[in-house]
Amino acid sequence: MKNIIAIDGPAASGKTTLGKLLAAKFEYLFFDTGVMYRAVTLAVVNAGISIEDKLACSKLAEDIQIDVLQPSEEDGRSNDVLIDGVDSTWDIVKPEVVACVSEISAIPGVRKALTAKQREIGLRGNVVMVGRDIGTVVLPEAGVKIYLNASPEERAKRRYDERIARGEPVDYDTLLAVIKKRDKIDSNREVAPLAAAEDAYILESDGKDAGAVFQEALGVFNERTAE
Ligand code: C5P
Repeated sequence: MKNIIAIDGPAASGKTTLGKLLAAKFEYLFFDTGVMYRAVTLAVVNAGISIEDKLACSKLAEDIQIDVLQPSEEDGRSNDVLIDGVDSTWDIVKPEVVACVSEISAIPGVRKALTAKQREIGLRGNVVMVGRDIGTVVLPEAGVKIYLNASPEERAKRRYDERIARGEPVDYDTLLAVIKKRDKIDSNREVAPLAAAEDAYILESDGKDAGAVFQEALGVFNERTAE
């Protein structure tokens, strides 16, 4: 389907920035699937469920209502993320969620529940869907697939600059270690690992700014949708 753009790639590779620019250009819905995995993780943590209890984590992923809506406030958020009706937009980016989101995302039952919800939204079309397995598993029929890559050091530096700009205390080496750990778990899990689809365009973004990445992605869009 030509009106589905799938963007995959590792943590902090710039998927959100690129996805939002493409969505604005084509007036498509921007949908970041990572927020759903973060939402389930927050709910698991809040419910006091052990991340070892895969059955309970999967059941919770099936049962909770996650709504990703247009942003209601101009405080830097891309969307409002509601968990069972409660605004959890900023809670899902907290370190305690980041610390175990990859472990919870590796649970097959959690992926099954969220993949079904994501496919339903994606197949409506006119969408830019962003994640780790969109081109491979969630929406293999996407007409435009981009795998956005960057070195761990460049990605850690980008996160570092963002945090410093927000006035948050942060340590570069810690960020780099967390990014490498997430890459490892995301790439090695059994179900839907982080990977480029065979027909994805691999966009290496080291040393490129957001404008250059956007221009390269537009070239891919034009080429793929002209076929
Ligand atoms: O993209 P973001 O950093 O918000 O994703 C958080 C985590 O959710 C990732 O580290 C990954 O473990 C998981 N994820 C996933 N599949 C997706 C999107 C995110 O496994 N499609």
